[in-house]
This record gives sequence, C-alpha cells and structure tokens, in this order.
Amino acid sequence: MKQKTVNRRTFLSKSTACITGVGIAGTCAMFGRENLPHEQKQPAIKEYRVLGRTGFRVSDIGCGYPGLVNESVLKAAIAGGINFIDTIEGHGGGNSEIAIGRAIKTCPRDSLFINSKIAVTEKDTGETLVARVKKSLERLDTDYIDGLMLWHATTARETENKVFHKAVRQMRKEGIVRFSGVSCHGSSYADEPPETMDKIICAAVDSGRFDIVMFVYNYVQKEMGDKILELCGKKNVGTTLMKTDPFGGAYNIVTNMVTNYQKENKEIPPNIQKVYSKIMKSQEQAMPFLIQHGLSDLNARKEAAISFVLNHPAVSTVLISFSNFTEVADYIRLSGSRLTDRALSEVNSLRATFGPLYCRHACGICESTCPRRVPVNTIMRYNNYFVAQSREKYAISQYLGLDRPNAGNCAGCEGFCEAACPFGVPIHALLVDAHKNLSLTGEYA
Ligand code: SF4
Ligand code: SF4
Repeated sequence: MKQKTVNRRTFLSKSTACITGVGIAGTCAMFGRENLPHEQKQPAIKEYRVLGRTGFRVSDIGCGYPGLVNESVLKAAIAGGINFIDTIEGHGGGNSEIAIGRAIKTCPRDSLFINSKIAVTEKDTGETLVARVKKSLERLDTDYIDGLMLWHATTARETENKVFHKAVRQMRKEGIVRFSGVSCHGSSYADEPPETMDKIICAAVDSGRFDIVMFVYNYVQKEMGDKILELCGKKNVGTTLMKTDPFGGAYNIVTNMVTNYQKENKEIPPNIQKVYSKIMKSQEQAMPFLIQHGLSDLNARKEAAISFVLNHPAVSTVLISFSNFTEVADYIRLSGSRLTDRALSEVNSLRATFGPLYCRHACGICESTCPRRVPVNTIMRYNNYFVAQSREKYAISQYLGLDRPNAGNCAGCEGFCEAACPFGVPIHALLVDAHKNLSLTGEYA
C-alpha cells in the first residue's frame, strides 16, 4: 500500500475540493462508468446535499454497510454517482474493507466520503484505537478516512467516551481521520437507564464534538428522528439515516414465516396464525387504497418510504445496504425525489394500516417487563437483517454473540412484552420466529 502522509495543507485542499461536490461526484461517476459494460443503462444520482459542517456534498442516496461488501455491486453504485460509503472497522475479518479498497480505485479518492465506525471496549486506549484505524486504512488501501463514528452508542454518557475523543483528536492531527461521528440504535438492554435514541444523539450533538450522526428514521418511527433532524439543522451537523423502510421488514417477516411452515407441511402455530390473519386483514382492507395510489406492490411502498425521508431538508444522505445490481439501479432512481402533499398523506395512511406490525427500531419500551431480560429490540433488528436485508450470516453471527438471554426463552412465556407494547405489535410470535431463523439449532430454553 502506498502510505502517503496527508499534512494539514493537503487536508485543507481536500476539504476545499470536496465542497465543490457536484462536479467532483460527476467526475467520479464518469470514472466508474468507463469500467462498466452497461453504462448507458445506469441511472445516475440527481442530488447532492451538504453533509453539515464537513462541507462535503454527499449523494442523497448513500451506500450503507451491507455486512459483506460485494465489490462489483459497490463499483456500480459509485459509477451511478454515489459518493458516501459506510463501513465498520474490521468486520467480516476485514474482507469488506478490502473489497471497498478495490472498488474506490474507480474514481478520485477526494470525490468520496468514506465513513467508518469503531466499537470502543473497556480495554481500549487511545493508542489501541489509533492502531486499529491504521490497520483499517491498510485494508481500505487509502491514506485517510473521512468520518470515524463511535459505533452504536447506547447511552448519552457513552458519547463522552474519553478514549474515543482523544484518539480522534490525535488522528485528525495526523490527517488520517477528518471528521468525528456517532451512530445509535437506542439503548440495548433493560437494565440500563431508559435512554431513547433522540436523547442519546441530541446529547452528542449538543456537546459540539461530533460533525456527523447516524440514526433510524422512517415514516413510522419518525418522532425521535424529527427532533434529531431539527437540532442537527440548527447545529450544522451532517445526518445519515438507516432503517428507512419500515414496512418491508415487518411484512416479509410474517409472510415468510407462514410460507416456511407451509413448505415444511407443518401446522402454523396459533399465535403466528393470529398475526398472519391480522396482516392479511389489514392488507385486504387497505388494498383498494393502495391500488388507487399505486402502492399495491412492495417496490412502490419502498419508493414512498425513501421519498418520505428525502423530503426532510435536514437529511444529508439515506443509507441503503445494496446486495445486488437491481437494488443499486432502483434506489439511485429515487435520488432527488420528493413527496407531494397528497403523497405525504398517502404515506400517513400506510403508517396507520401497517404501523402495528412494525417493531420500531431503536425502541425497547417493552424490555423492562421481561422477567428474563431478553433484548427484544436488538433481536428484532437482527431478524430484520435476516429476513428483509438478506444478511443471514451476519444476522446469525450477531445473534449468537448476544451476551443476554435470547428469544429461546420466549416460546413458553405468556408474553409480558407484548402486553406492554404501546403500538400493539404482536411481538411474542415475532420473537419465537426470530429465534427459529437466527439460532443454529432452533431449540428453545
Ligand atoms: S415490541 Fe413494541 S415496545 Fe417492544 S421494542 Fe417493539 S415496538 Fe417497542
Ligand atoms: S416473550 Fe416473554 S421471555 Fe420473550 S421477551 Fe417477551 S416477556 Fe421476555
């Protein structure tokens, strides 16, 4: 790897270059296209937005971290004009970073914003974090990363992590990290003080130490995100969104569950049948409306979900975990889209119809009622990776790595969590199915 030192002057010139954004990203798309056989068919990003105080203009559709990066798919995304690429330090044995390193060679480095996330453990020191980031840079085959986020903060206090901030200060001086950030899915476990995602991220933004943030925002789970977006707008902090399509996951989870029972010629358990009947009834009642408004298939609903979040002026980029070329083309087509007032009211109707099926990301309200301290919301997030995002291996590995009781405890339970859910989510059956998907044995405690 070429280990070129980036001094302060080079650094500033990179920043200035990036502020010009649109032109550079256009250049980047052209560079990528030279290498692709079907260039004419590729849709292109239509809108670039300023990523808060970083000044960098990022594509409104960005590359989320898909667990295992497919180099060719990422090259297609870059060729389409996507210039925000998210990753995580060391995941998958570092192979994803290696794939990203190869893919980003298709265009000038300073036309891309590469964002990584790092988990900080109690054993870490400033030195170990710096060493880990340097290893990341080797795998990414680049001299610097643009953003380094404290990964998955679960309390406001965690965002004050001295080791992380000290390491970031040093790496900024060395020119190997340009901006600091934080990502959050809310609190993880019942025994922590109940801190919501907006409380955690807003505390981080108010501290003035973070330039970019990553959080959940969609048309069902919107209230917390609205607060964060308003504050980020005022403080000029860049916003990157994840989990922007709530419905696909909820719908797929239950319908796949029933299909599997049918395929295996097994009787559908009564609690799952109850949820399935509820979905089918909602769908049946909603179908005339969905057909009338062109929302009768999942793709149309996905488009509505993305357009909804893009409508918010404080959103910088919407992260999508692309797993194939079709997804790249489909999502890039949504760049620059806006919802009309009428379409907004349609999305609100979707929320009323399907909202009760969705275990809200970054929620966890029910977890304190579980006598076994099962991390309900985290498990449902892993199941969403498994069912809705085709990230089976990643989802299973995360589930097996849980350091709290898993959903194997749920089968014989009377479902205290479900009774406590203010949104009416049939969570008991969903947890039982999640365990079936995510555990290797499918056995219950
Ligand atoms: S089941 Fe309900 S209360 Fe529990 S995490 Fe999901 S949405 Fe929140
Ligand atoms: S079903 Fe029972 S064991 Fe499982 S999370 Fe809910 S309360 Fe806990």
